[in-house]
Amino acid sequence: MPLFVVDVNRTQLFGAPLPRIDATTLASYTSHIYEGCEYGCNYCDGWGRHLRPFNEQIRLMPDIAPAASAELATINRRAVIGLTAESDAYQPAEQHYRRTRSVLRVLAAHGQPTVIMTKSPHVVDDIELLTEIHQRSLALVMVTVMSHVVDVQNKLEDKNISTVERLATVTRLKKAGLPVGVVIQPLIPYLNDTDYALTHLIEMIVAAGADFVHWDYLYTLNQRHRNRVYEALARIGNYPPSYMRNLYRDGMTIDRAYQQERNSALTRICDDAKLPVHPPYTLFAQRLDPRNELELTILHQARRDMLQGRDTLAISGQSLATKIAAGDLPMQELRNYAHYMLIRPAVQHVESTIP
Ligand code: SF4
Repeated sequence: MPLFVVDVNRTQLFGAPLPRIDATTLASYTSHIYEGCEYGCNYCDGWGRHLRPFNEQIRLMPDIAPAASAELATINRRAVIGLTAESDAYQPAEQHYRRTRSVLRVLAAHGQPTVIMTKSPHVVDDIELLTEIHQRSLALVMVTVMSHVVDVQNKLEDKNISTVERLATVTRLKKAGLPVGVVIQPLIPYLNDTDYALTHLIEMIVAAGADFVHWDYLYTLNQRHRNRVYEALARIGNYPPSYMRNLYRDGMTIDRAYQQERNSALTRICDDAKLPVHPPYTLFAQRLDPRNELELTILHQARRDMLQGRDTLAISGQSLATKIAAGDLPMQELRNYAHYMLIRPAVQHVESTIP
């Protein structure tokens, strides 16, 4: 049983906007309701961020609803708030403390676009609030999974429900009319990133009805985090540590060429399954700040270019998105952009808002 502590020093919930809109979650602000996570997944970088056991002490922000309300008064009503950072908003503590629900009530009252990333089935307890938000702007849920193999899950994220049950949550949310994405993370070399494993998982995700998929690779933050991950991997089976040493030469990030090859393979699997590799424009069109919508649409095209090895095009998309984030609307450059036909609806939406 973890220790619950009220953190009187925490006074801000959403804080400053992100330096750059997050193309994965669509968020301009990212926040965590609880500090610490009872799930304590072995690969979580929270183990590297905190000196105290990440899953044994959960910190609660006092007066969280009034703080959320006060901060929202200064935030663009069409910017996405992401409850996506550092801890799961629906970890077991939520059943008792209902901090996430009280913040969602505030977000619903303001009609603020919201995205939640979770592994927990309890997100469905707040379907009504999420629906209320989605009727006024956007409420997006992203469910994270890592493997269809129960034994792998038991060794790396044993406090969570199974992948099958998580995908049942996706289906329930979709039936309620909410957009839902699935994030496969972390991809761990040779463990859950083989063509067979990925094809199987993508088939399950498609069957659950997800709108899109995103993925991310194992990243190790520091030596403490690395030790924990490697210890857990050693318990899984015949997994020579030299594999990791060869693929994580800087100790933190996976080898770029390996990543590029896996990205291409996974993109192909998703294309074959007709599963988008980023949130489709139709999912957030006319629901966010029009400039954010345009920036996101370009960033998503740039990511797709990056996934398929079109680096020059990816860089040109990113630089265009940077200009839009800075407040420019370089029309000629937009019209010359290779993917102009794909981003044209978002461009036209921005143009329609210019007096
Ligand atoms: S549920 Fe998410 S935040 Fe919590 S321990 Fe697992 S990976 Fe980390």
